[in-house]
Amino acid sequence: MARHHRSLALVLTFATAGWLIGTIGCQASLAHGGGAPVPALISDAPVNSGDRTPAGETRGRVVAAPSRITDFAPAESSVTVDAGTLNLRRVFEDLGDDATLWYQHVQTLANPFFEGRAPETRGQALTAEYVEFFFRLYDLEPAFSSSYTQPFSYSRRGSTKVKIDLAELSIGGRRLSAGTDFVVLGNSGDAELTAPITFVGYGIEEGPDGYSSFDDDTDLTGRAALLLRYTPVDESGESLWDEDQTTWQAGIRRKMRAVAHRGAAAIILVNPPDTDGPSGLEKPTGRFGPGLDIPVVQVSPAIANAMLVESDPDGRGLAAWRRMADDGRITTYDLYDIQATLHTAVTRTRNRSALSGTNVAGILRGRGDLADTYVVIGGHHDHVGFGDHGGIRASNRGQLHPGADDNASGTAGVLVLARMLTEGYREAPRNMDLRSIIFVTFDGEEMGLHGSRAFTDDLPVGAENVSIMLNMDMIGRLRSRNLSVLGTGTGEGLTDLLRPHFERSGLTVAVTEAGSGRSDDANFHAIKVPALHFFTGMHAEYTTPGDHAYTVNPGGAAEILDLLFDIAYDVASRPQKLAYREPGPSSGENRGYGRVRLGIRPDMNDDVETGVAVAAVSTGTSAEAGGMQAGDVIVGWDDKKIADMRDLFERLQMHEPGDTVKITVIRGSEKVVLDITLKAS
Ligand SMILES: [Zn+2]
Repeated sequence: MARHHRSLALVLTFATAGWLIGTIGCQASLAHGGGAPVPALISDAPVNSGDRTPAGETRGRVVAAPSRITDFAPAESSVTVDAGTLNLRRVFEDLGDDATLWYQHVQTLANPFFEGRAPETRGQALTAEYVEFFFRLYDLEPAFSSSYTQPFSYSRRGSTKVKIDLAELSIGGRRLSAGTDFVVLGNSGDAELTAPITFVGYGIEEGPDGYSSFDDDTDLTGRAALLLRYTPVDESGESLWDEDQTTWQAGIRRKMRAVAHRGAAAIILVNPPDTDGPSGLEKPTGRFGPGLDIPVVQVSPAIANAMLVESDPDGRGLAAWRRMADDGRITTYDLYDIQATLHTAVTRTRNRSALSGTNVAGILRGRGDLADTYVVIGGHHDHVGFGDHGGIRASNRGQLHPGADDNASGTAGVLVLARMLTEGYREAPRNMDLRSIIFVTFDGEEMGLHGSRAFTDDLPVGAENVSIMLNMDMIGRLRSRNLSVLGTGTGEGLTDLLRPHFERSGLTVAVTEAGSGRSDDANFHAIKVPALHFFTGMHAEYTTPGDHAYTVNPGGAAEILDLLFDIAYDVASRPQKLAYREPGPSSGENRGYGRVRLGIRPDMNDDVETGVAVAAVSTGTSAEAGGMQAGDVIVGWDDKKIADMRDLFERLQMHEPGDTVKITVIRGSEKVVLDITLKAS
């Protein structure tokens, strides 16, 4: 059942106005004045046309979704706004109440006052209070006996903690002092051994122009490898290689692996002298990666210098040997008549910390025979605060992550639907049977779906009484009217139930039978409740400080909320409860988006410090046709640098099938530029 007071014409206008609102936040765009082209966030429709009659297609479509949900990211179309004729009042009038209210909620929850809504912060407590305030306002019943809130606790896996239990190192019979002469590194293995020492330069297998620290037959079996950090430098201590090659080749884990693969019994790391790099000894941390099974120590440059001076018949020290390694004059050099004795023991633990969270839920009471059965409408209200837990780009740690799309948008959706459905129930015929609706916002989603797990573990109404769960996680960025809905195969007959709603919505709905497994709907599937996940797609600001409230599309959100209203109302008024079913395999196919795919599997375990290491290239893809190979490291795309997956993702968004781009990869020691013609995904 569609909401009676909204025409399709008005819906289209919402999208237009939504784009304008989105633009208003971009000061730079408006400052240009009339006619400035701005990156379009939202709408294909003409702006301020004054014409409320929708042009072109108004019927929705159902299409297959990409096989991986993270690939869903509809392209934006470009629109020009004439700031000179912008009529703000008209914009807000056209948006209508629901879109405006939704937008206010997003603006509020993504405001710095809410601190990015991280666990156990004041911002988080305010978020829960904020949601509860509106549930009370709409006269929802408290979902947890007399309370709207459900406190729960969970634990999260933290960073690796390293404890050095034993640190002994003697060189040439002289015992060194731990902490000043040397340290045991966090990835050290446990061992007690005495070994002769080999200087291995920078420990680089393949650098530019045939550079290598090793000969083909270099064998370090039983030897302690004295290893320089970083990459070759010139006389003034600056890198001889370009930045891409330096950061990639200098990956410390890669270098240590190269040494260990050649049989080394221990690694003695030293920072090269007279360079820009840091010269101090490292703290014991997990940053050097997982533990090796050989001892790994770092010595001060003074100690390494003494070792070399003592063993070199010509008395050359660390600086001289560094210079020989810089220009590739030497590969390895066995130190004469000097041995290292090491005794190391390290304990690595993943610390876990206990956290508390708060879900908030209220019930809109149904009526008649269906009143004791339920529809659940939810979304997570937490986000990552200042980005100081895992999965956040290092350079963004410490910065506010506003989480407007993720997931102030879904939280706002829950609040607006609470109002829409309260009103809808009030206006429904008196003798109509209606299920009750639970509105819930979850905490602890970002750290592993903890809030919805706590909620479903202890469901206030019993799983057998719930007909469907509707989850919103990132519904703020409707682009070109493309929406993704996952989990359409998780209820008997659900696909047929949904189709007319999708078609009436006017949206292009990319459906996936299975759920995403990555948001709160997953915990409802786990207790065999059909659940749908609504999602407007990935974008470059996902989980970054750039997920600002001005980037969201209120007109688009209103369209999505209308669709959710219709589905919720339909399920709530159907006598037959939906039965759970196991979804079929995801379509794997993917049509209708005109988007492109490269066709690589990135190597997440590689320690490249910049670029994307390619673990595999899929057959029949753009990457394969363009000559990309497993082991390549992607560092450039046309004239743009590719530092990580996000950069790569951003580039992919900007292209159409058939575009040819120049992708720069590092292959062994070479920089290779590939011409790649992008195929549709
Ligand atoms: Zn989310």
